[in-house]
Amino acid sequence: MQLEFFGAAGEVTGSCHILRAGGRQLLLDCGMIQGGADATARNRRAFPFEASGIDAVVLSHAHIDHCGRLPLLVKRGFRGPIHTNPACADLLPILLRDSANLLMREAERANRELRPRDQRVEPLFDLEDVEAVIRQVQVMAYDAPREVLPGITARVREAGHILGSSSVELWVAEGGQKRKLVFSGDLGQYDTPILQDPYRFESADLVLMESTYGDRRHRGREDTARELGSILAQAERDGGNVIVPAFAIGRSQELLYLLAKNYAEWHVARWKIFLDSPMAIAASRVYWKHPDRFDEESSRLRASFGGMPPLPNLVLSETPDDSRAINDIRGGAIIIAGSGMANGGRVLHHLKHNLPRPECHVLIVGFQAPGTLGRQLVDHKPDVRIHGREVRVAAQVHTLGGLSAHADQAQLLRWYDSFSGRPPVYLVHGEVASAEALALKLRELGAQATVTHPGLTIDLAGVNALARD
Ligand SMILES: [Zn+2]
Repeated sequence: MQLEFFGAAGEVTGSCHILRAGGRQLLLDCGMIQGGADATARNRRAFPFEASGIDAVVLSHAHIDHCGRLPLLVKRGFRGPIHTNPACADLLPILLRDSANLLMREAERANRELRPRDQRVEPLFDLEDVEAVIRQVQVMAYDAPREVLPGITARVREAGHILGSSSVELWVAEGGQKRKLVFSGDLGQYDTPILQDPYRFESADLVLMESTYGDRRHRGREDTARELGSILAQAERDGGNVIVPAFAIGRSQELLYLLAKNYAEWHVARWKIFLDSPMAIAASRVYWKHPDRFDEESSRLRASFGGMPPLPNLVLSETPDDSRAINDIRGGAIIIAGSGMANGGRVLHHLKHNLPRPECHVLIVGFQAPGTLGRQLVDHKPDVRIHGREVRVAAQVHTLGGLSAHADQAQLLRWYDSFSGRPPVYLVHGEVASAEALALKLRELGAQATVTHPGLTIDLAGVNALARD
């Protein structure tokens, strides 16, 4: 029995690890490599294994850097089951279809440049491949063990990162030997709104752990909420609109939740709140459909409003016409629209209409990559270009930290600290500097911590048996 690292080893994206036992092969995640000029080319490369030789997949959550190459895996011959939790199974089609549409549009654009026939660009995968993935999904309840392959049993536990995020316990048996692995998946912050805290594990022989923010400390959630409240108070005095470029899954629902939770205190009733993104609306509906994954506070809020969404003044803008109608509103609107980095999508129209107006506010709630419009706003550029036109930035731009969906260093250490016997830990899903920083801290706790790289293989029979279950 063997564990080998392929993706998200020494970097953040492309999560993919392989577990071998009894002649069978199980993939943990099959994520897309994102960012960087060579990401597209790397995604196109052959997998370092036969896709048809994979017997099953266990998927931790629906973020594209964890699930994004499943359609490619299927396209290249994988026919086995994809085990994942119910909420992830509901989010997966939304994310994968969006990804396929994006890839198909990109390929179309490239082909419009009249390439010779033999140089035509094919999309990495298309909607048919996505539908094949969806047909191969086998829903797996949280907290209930399932034999996913002969000799490999898996159980998914809450990871508190986005809805439908899970850590995975894996029991592997071969030749009379048995070992237990825990794969963290992506871990959320302990006091994340809506979601339950990451599951508290006690036992494992070996731990695979994410390290995205292994070298960072987040701002406290309460500080962040206070800041949001004071921005809204200022915006109310100024009488304009508030524009929020927001990511469709996680951040948008968290913002709505904060508005509901502070409904009276922040005078939220005086605003009209627009969720102007078909994808965010679809994702929100999945959130509202899974109250069993809510934490106590969120369940109470849901009960007090008699259901979801807990905001009577929320407007879901489904169609382009709904979206355009918002353009006529001069004040009193909070407009949450994609894309999250304002490099496309409906938010561009709202920015075009509201940026030149000093009484309006823009709220940046997530990481903004260099080169995006969002980044130019964060950097307080006096003028920006939208749809080919120069737009003066007179609105006030605020950057709100602290809404990260990932645990920081202290929280990662807290998560690991619950394991008894300090099992060896292999760090994935982090830039090398961040993983190294976390490894140092883990070693201070007495753990044997290793920063992984692609191709690193562990013989599981050689790992000490510590786990009691
Ligand atoms: Zn994630």
